[in-house]
Amino acid sequence: MLAGPRSTNQVRLLETGPEMKNAAVPFCPDRETLRGRLRADLKVYLDAVTELERSNIENGFDKAHKLANRARLAYEVARKRLNQHVTSHGCVLR
Ligand SMILES: [Zn+2]
Repeated sequence: MLAGPRSTNQVRLLETGPEMKNAAVPFCPDRETLRGRLRADLKVYLDAVTELERSNIENGFDKAHKLANRARLAYEVARKRLNQHVTSHGCVLR
């Protein structure tokens, strides 16, 4: 956890919902949505990597590399969103 005004704000946010006081939310629909997106983005990324493995310098490597890189960035954004949500909301992944 970061120290400073930022974490103080996060604590205040958590305290606004009485059901979130113990930072143990059994089911969080927002988290599940974010996890679903993460899984979908991971699948796209893995497919893109498979495509990249199949390609070669003469045959579509640049295009496959660009697609794989874009898919990786999308996956990383989805992962960050999930982590940020869990940190700020206090709903712990099981
Ligand atoms: Zn949540």
